[in-house]
Amino acid sequence: MKKRVLVKLIIIMLLVGIGLTVIESLNFRNHGIQSAIDKARSVSEVIKNGLTSYMVNGNMHQRDIYINSVSDIENIEKLWIIRGDNVIKQYGKPTRLEKPRDKVDIEVLDSSKMKYILNETLDKTTVRVTIPYKAEQNNIANCISCHDVSYGETLGAVSIVMDISDIRISGLRLAIMIMLFTLVAIILVLFFANKALKPHLETIDELSGKIKNISNGIFTNIIKRKGLSDESEQLINEYNQLVNGLSTTFTDIDNKLNIFIGNQMYHTNNPLLNSQRIIGDLSDIYQFKKEIEVDKDKYEIYGRLGEVLNNRFRLKNFNFMEQNYQNNKTEIVYSKNNINYCVETIKNNPDLCRVVRSTNDVMSVQDHSVCPHFTNNEKLYYCTSIDIGDQSILIINFILDTKTELDELVRNIPLIKNYFMEATPSLIVKLLLEALKSSAFRDGLTNLYNRKFLDEHLTKLVPQALRENIKIGVLMLDMDHFKSVNDEYGHDIGDLVLKELGKILSENVRESDIVVRYGGEEFIILLIGVDNEESVLEVANKIRTKVSKNEINVYAGNKLRKTVSIGFSMFPEDSTNFDIVLKNADIALYEAKEKGRDQVIRFQEKVQVELF
Ligand code: GH3
Ligand code: MG
Ligand code: MG
Repeated sequence: MKKRVLVKLIIIMLLVGIGLTVIESLNFRNHGIQSAIDKARSVSEVIKNGLTSYMVNGNMHQRDIYINSVSDIENIEKLWIIRGDNVIKQYGKPTRLEKPRDKVDIEVLDSSKMKYILNETLDKTTVRVTIPYKAEQNNIANCISCHDVSYGETLGAVSIVMDISDIRISGLRLAIMIMLFTLVAIILVLFFANKALKPHLETIDELSGKIKNISNGIFTNIIKRKGLSDESEQLINEYNQLVNGLSTTFTDIDNKLNIFIGNQMYHTNNPLLNSQRIIGDLSDIYQFKKEIEVDKDKYEIYGRLGEVLNNRFRLKNFNFMEQNYQNNKTEIVYSKNNINYCVETIKNNPDLCRVVRSTNDVMSVQDHSVCPHFTNNEKLYYCTSIDIGDQSILIINFILDTKTELDELVRNIPLIKNYFMEATPSLIVKLLLEALKSSAFRDGLTNLYNRKFLDEHLTKLVPQALRENIKIGVLMLDMDHFKSVNDEYGHDIGDLVLKELGKILSENVRESDIVVRYGGEEFIILLIGVDNEESVLEVANKIRTKVSKNEINVYAGNKLRKTVSIGFSMFPEDSTNFDIVLKNADIALYEAKEKGRDQVIRFQEKVQVELF
């Protein structure tokens, strides 16, 4: 900046110096020519008067001596007289010396006007001036007293060649002087301009650098230099105040925003950039939160979290497992790519999971064997967990291919956890709703499904079974002489007996089968996907036997054994109307009771055959 200004200044001053030199040289030259012409006029006048005297005194024959003597005047190189036509007419032909020597002489005689020619060579400058002599009357003589002419007519002319080289030398000297003066002026101006401009220009340079720094989040003050004007100092003060204010404000914003994100993962020295990134993330999280608020169930929320991990954090393989402390169930609620190196093990035995036990994040960075249940030695893992309310914990298992991926995940984990934290309230609501729904469908005493559930479930199950040709064995079961338990031992023991029965029923059917407490001591079991009625009979008998062998501790060491009667029918063999199938099972149960209890009866349309 400073250099540019000074170079401009030098160029301007040089141009001014050169301009001045040229103007002065031209002036000087014109002045030289003019003074040569004036000198020539004087000489011509002298000659004219001299010649007139010679003529009046009758000494014209000696005129050449006179002219030669005039020619000796300094700077006069040549001088000659030209005889005009009027004089030739009167006095005869001119001598050799008085003839016109060139066109200029002739031109001047013809025109009666003075003419001059400048002749410049490298080493010499001359001015040739030709001045006409006209007939006139002056204080020496009256021309027309000797010449047969009228006043004003041309008698002749004089040509004088004068050397004006010395004018050129003087001009050159002057030009050199001007140039020298210009150079000295340039040096002086540069010196003083540099001194005066330096602090200003340096300040401007510093200012432009520091303004650039502001966009990089670096806020620094400007130094006050000596020699600055009051206005400049005030400007610097205002700039410094502004920068200090901005620095404090942005650092404050940065710190406060950081609390929202809760980590230093972006932390650069640029508070502007930090704030911009944090606001970007907060806005994404806010958007995410808005979206999950309208999600239907927890699976949709987990799916959305999965999308965030995949799209925003470029994670390719991960699993979410939900562990419910209350019912001690662990469920894989989301899996990206279904890659499983520990999930199935943990699912069946959540206590093996280090994250669940320690509540600290576990990763295979220093030592791959931190988690002995992760079975792939080629891959890396990172596991973390989030509490979803008091009852459940979500285990997140990331599977990574490279150390770089793992490092990136470690950097991102605080932000990732933020997404999970934001999802937690919605997840808790969904889990509570799920629990509520489940409790509405379950019997409080035995925790088996209730009749309401059966009714609801059948609306989906029946068409599916018909569509997919699935056979269902329907067992109707009733405890024999249960009333006597109540009567003999009281209701509490009655409840205990029912609870134990429920447990036996659940334990002796497949997980996909459905056990329902249908009424007081009456149960329905749907054996879904059975091959034939023989296997139904087999299961029914197994249950009947297990119940009859089961000893229930009553009080004071007393043990109680009970039996059940079971009637069953087949769907859709007996009827495609499930109500009829249920009714049929009930009829078969009645039949079993009739036949003496503790037995299994297959419903038969007409002939009711005892199978046991
Ligand atoms: P049967 O062999 O013919 O089935 O005789 P039962 O005594 O089992 O049949 P009954 O229908 O006469 O008696 C059923 C009894 O079950 C009546 C009722 O008080 C009792 N009961 C129903 N629900 C509950 C319950 O939740 N707890 C208890 N303790 N008793 C119940
Ligand atoms: Mg009954
Ligand atoms: Mg009964």
